[in-house]
Amino acid sequence: MKFSENSEQAVNFLRQAVPTMMQHNIVPNPLNYTLWYSYYSHAYPELNSELDRIISEHTTCPPELSEALFIKHISQLEGDQGEQLHSLQDAFAKLVGTVSESFIQSADHTSRFSEAVKHSLDELGTQTDHNKVSPVLSKLSQQADEMQSANAQFQAELGAAQTEIDNLREELTATRREALTDPLTGLQNRRALDAIYAKYSIHSTNNKHFALVIMDIDKFKAFNDKHGHLLGDQILQFIGKFLQAECEEPTVPVRFGGEEFAIVCPTYALSEAQALAEKLRKKLSSIPFNNKRTGDTIAPVTASFGVCEQKQDENLMGIIERADSALYAAKNAGRNKVEVSE
Ligand code: GH3
Ligand code: MG
Ligand code: MG
Repeated sequence: MKFSENSEQAVNFLRQAVPTMMQHNIVPNPLNYTLWYSYYSHAYPELNSELDRIISEHTTCPPELSEALFIKHISQLEGDQGEQLHSLQDAFAKLVGTVSESFIQSADHTSRFSEAVKHSLDELGTQTDHNKVSPVLSKLSQQADEMQSANAQFQAELGAAQTEIDNLREELTATRREALTDPLTGLQNRRALDAIYAKYSIHSTNNKHFALVIMDIDKFKAFNDKHGHLLGDQILQFIGKFLQAECEEPTVPVRFGGEEFAIVCPTYALSEAQALAEKLRKKLSSIPFNNKRTGDTIAPVTASFGVCEQKQDENLMGIIERADSALYAAKNAGRNKVEVSE
């Protein structure tokens, strides 16, 4: 090859070569870099006119034509020497391949690498002496190593950024979870109910049924007055665990507010939700407590339940209102009862 320009000129030629290659969809391999570098350096005027002709005909330069041009104008090698050049190109292409895949992520480094590649190619091209080829290859190998370590650093930075993003995402998820969780009982709260409804109501699924149970502890004000607010809190905590244990999929217990809970029952018909409420009522009313501070046994707390099933044209507000009026009826009927709204 006959390249005699200084490095500033060389960079300048490469700057012109790379966009042209991209524009014409030319694979950025060593051979093509050399070809297009040569084009802009005007080292081989005949090459330029042939390339111009090929581009105007094909809008690109097909690989087999690139190779033919390279051999004809640049390598000017024949026979064994031509084969040697091919195998050197292959070795070089492999080196480039090992780094280029991850390397393309760093556009900033790419031009520097291209430059290094070009200079090595220049050297490689001028070597017809077998003994001098080996040092050029080891230099190429060294350049590839350098690029690999630059790339490793880039990957590490990417990794650190990714970890930071993951942490932020986790924090965000935790904050969202907290906003939808009741801190005392660990159940989902009233705010979560909207989302649960949106996910499971008959309007958002193909299921025919969606039911709601509202549960309110009986005479809880009196309980607090008698045993203290702290013990009242412990009872609420216990009820949270109790509901979590008793409400099987797909039902979801929610702390509705104060001493009121709701059990969302996706796919449940009225009778199934009623049976669930009845089971909860019965079980809760059979569990006595122990006041650890005084050692006293405390009678079971009871709750009243209102149950309803979503109607075709009903929204969440409507369902809650009907379940509430059923609950009101259960209170009026003497408490520790389950009432349904048809
Ligand atoms: P009813 O059978 O009619 O429901 O009677 P009730 O006393 O349960 O109903 P009321 O609405 O009069 O009172 C609710 C009580 O629940 C009053 C309030 O102190 C208590 N309560 C609400 N939230 C909490 C809480 O987080 N901790 C404790 N310890 N008590 C609570
Ligand atoms: Mg109550
Ligand atoms: Mg209440």
